Amino acid sequence: MTTSHYIAGRWVEGQGSDCISVNDPALGQPFAELMAASVAQVDQAVTAARGALPAWKNTSASERAAYLRGFAEQLGQRREALITLQMRNNGKPRHEAEIDLDDAIATFGYYAELAEQLPSKNRDVPLAAPGFSARTRLEPVGVVGLIVPWNFPLVTSAWKLAPALAAGCTVVLKPSEVTPLIEQAYGQIADALELPAGVLNIVNGKAETGAALSNHNGLDKLSFTGSNSVGSQVMRSASAQCRPVTLELGGKSAIVVFDDCDVGQAVEWIVAGITWNAGQMCSATSRLLVQDGIADALLPRLQVALENLRVGNPLTEEVDMGPLTSQAQWLKVAGYFATAREEGLQCLAGGKALDRDGWFVSPTLYADVPKDSRLWTEEIFGPVLCARRFATEEQAIAEANDSRFGLVATVCSADLERAERVADALEVGHVWINSVQAVFVETSWGGTKGSGIGRELGPWGLSAYQSVKHVTRCLG
Ligand code: NAD
Repeated sequence: MTTSHYIAGRWVEGQGSDCISVNDPALGQPFAELMAASVAQVDQAVTAARGALPAWKNTSASERAAYLRGFAEQLGQRREALITLQMRNNGKPRHEAEIDLDDAIATFGYYAELAEQLPSKNRDVPLAAPGFSARTRLEPVGVVGLIVPWNFPLVTSAWKLAPALAAGCTVVLKPSEVTPLIEQAYGQIADALELPAGVLNIVNGKAETGAALSNHNGLDKLSFTGSNSVGSQVMRSASAQCRPVTLELGGKSAIVVFDDCDVGQAVEWIVAGITWNAGQMCSATSRLLVQDGIADALLPRLQVALENLRVGNPLTEEVDMGPLTSQAQWLKVAGYFATAREEGLQCLAGGKALDRDGWFVSPTLYADVPKDSRLWTEEIFGPVLCARRFATEEQAIAEANDSRFGLVATVCSADLERAERVADALEVGHVWINSVQAVFVETSWGGTKGSGIGRELGPWGLSAYQSVKHVTRCLG
């Protein structure tokens, strides 16, 4: 049992009723367990954040920047432990776990810089009308609840924590019950930096704990990353209290490959877009649209590339792809394999769970998938790629946009003018041209349509935790 809740600057044991098993997905076995926080403990965390707010929001921006730099530095000092824990609990290959850690470090460093620039943003507004002056003040939104999923625990939490603290907000973070140990590093770092008690609180638990946080009337805002079904519940509780919400939800993103591409290069991009993190990415490019002129050359190469991936336990083997992170996810993906068989889809690679311990599946490719197939339209969240062919640019754009989601897309073409034109026409929050899953802290993250509300990262990620005030004065 681990004391795993950080409330008002103290580590406490959970008093909830749920016992949470922390699993090694490569073995399908637990290696730790903890008791969830109770509803009363969630309330204590919100109360602590509320109590810490007046002093924290009045710290100077440079003081907050120093704390954020401290977070970046201390994450670096815990490098090996955090990489190993992500490999063990998420099943991430080492190089992916390293990239996640580096992303989190970069995020804290970036928002330290933006925090330092905050005083210069509070400036006078030129008015056309005479006799008045006006000035802008960017104020913290207040106490924010942060609810996150399990697929990129260090990163998703950093994308919320760093801008929230930079803005002067105090926070209660609820990590996923699937990966409840990784974000404890943020509490340990808060301790090491002597961050004032209550500025950062962490409560672990399942849906009950998340609901207790999202329903709490002591929050000024909630920022949620996760599934559409839970996102809509979170939005309902936000609407009941008329408070703002940021939602980062699911995706079913397209990768569009034109026939002027180098086949080998295109295969690399396609494989990375669907097998990184074993496909458990909101931004997985899981719908392949391939132009007629290249499809017959590309699909067999893609099949071989997927079949040749080294799938295994990242802690004991050199692997390209690890297991799925949870048994629930493994069962869900296996359910889609069954649906594909029922629908009579043409399976070119994979389509099955691996016959070994742990929650492994084969990288999978279905070809010529009908537009109304559940595998074409629903988010699977695993290494399952569906392909369709297209003839013209217009057709590719129409098919890519024909989705209730709108998170990201990738466009692969040697004709950069065309690639830019297609990127402009795609109804998503982020497009990669001739690259895949490259996320930079300076650019925004978030989706259109069913993929969410609001943006993270960049200056937009900071604005999400700020309230704009204007002070207008009569000069007469
Ligand atoms: P999930 O919605 O099941 O859980 C997310 C979080 O919500 C967890 O911490 C969970 O405990 C909590 N929760 C569960 N029920 C709740 C409730 N009733 N009230 C409040 N909180 C509750 O999602 P998941 O399975 O952890 O993550 C996978 C999903 O996340 C996928 O749909 C994926 O696309 C999405 N995701 C989106 C992004 C993005 O940036 N758009 C990033 C990562 C993951």
